[in-house]
Amino acid sequence: MTRPFNATSGPLRVLILGGTTEARELTEKLTAHPRFEVSVSLAGRTRNPLILAASTRSGGFGGVEGLADHLRMEKIDVLVDATHPFAAIMSRNAVEAATLAGVPLLALVRPEWAPQPGDLWIEAEDVPQAVRALGETPRHVLVTLGRNEVRALEAAPQHHYLIRSIDPVEPPLSVPSARYIETRGPFNEADEHTLLVANDIDAILAKNSGGAASYAKIIAARALGIEVIMITRPERPQVETAATVDDALAWLERL
Ligand code: NAP
Repeated sequence: MTRPFNATSGPLRVLILGGTTEARELTEKLTAHPRFEVSVSLAGRTRNPLILAASTRSGGFGGVEGLADHLRMEKIDVLVDATHPFAAIMSRNAVEAATLAGVPLLALVRPEWAPQPGDLWIEAEDVPQAVRALGETPRHVLVTLGRNEVRALEAAPQHHYLIRSIDPVEPPLSVPSARYIETRGPFNEADEHTLLVANDIDAILAKNSGGAASYAKIIAARALGIEVIMITRPERPQVETAATVDDALAWLERL
């Protein structure tokens, strides 16, 4: 059962499960808002995450029970799941932990990209399937999957990979042809266009992350007629969901 709010007991304590641009933006709005006291939890995947204006913890909670304990011990009033759309385990844990601790939950999930006229997409359910979709003939592939998932490329060593990630891929992949770019978005269309042409790219491996920060490569691929192997999102639990930071803020303000 959800705990009742006591309007006289001070600001609402909001925990944001973060790791996304939207989580950062919502954190900024809530820290400036007198009704809320906000803290953030990061998975700890990025070595030098951008500094947030709120109290931040990093690393797993130890599953559902761990998160539920945290919600109780920190007297969290509201949980916002603003993790990456591919962080399916965390999103499921959030639902169960919020139920156990009697805390309302809002998911903040940016809409996914939909193919537009001119897009050459092949959809894949996961990274191994996406790698198989590249086919047998060697290709020049831009890989934008996140460094923890690129190992699956070793199953197709015939391709030439250009791998872009925030942190280095360590150890490097055991494939004859891989180059690495370490950088953090957002990316713009002109730069993505240049990158694709300069490296003779004829396929992109991407996740359907949605949002603007990494969409420029999709627009550039469309203009150049480059195929995109698009990994579709994992299923998410059915919970109250906001698509934008403003919608999430409005939901919180209505509590
Ligand atoms: P996940 O597979 O859903 O979560 C695995 C475990 O990581 C969770 O069970 C939890 O550990 C911990 N965890 C995840 N998010 C957390 C958070 N905000 N605070 C504390 N612990 C957290 O998620 P993932 O491993 O982060 O990533 C899965 C997919 O999302 C990958 O495709 C990855 O590339 C993509 N992605 C994630 C992030 C990110 O910041 N997390 C950013 C970009 C892309 P416990 O069970 O121990 O609590």
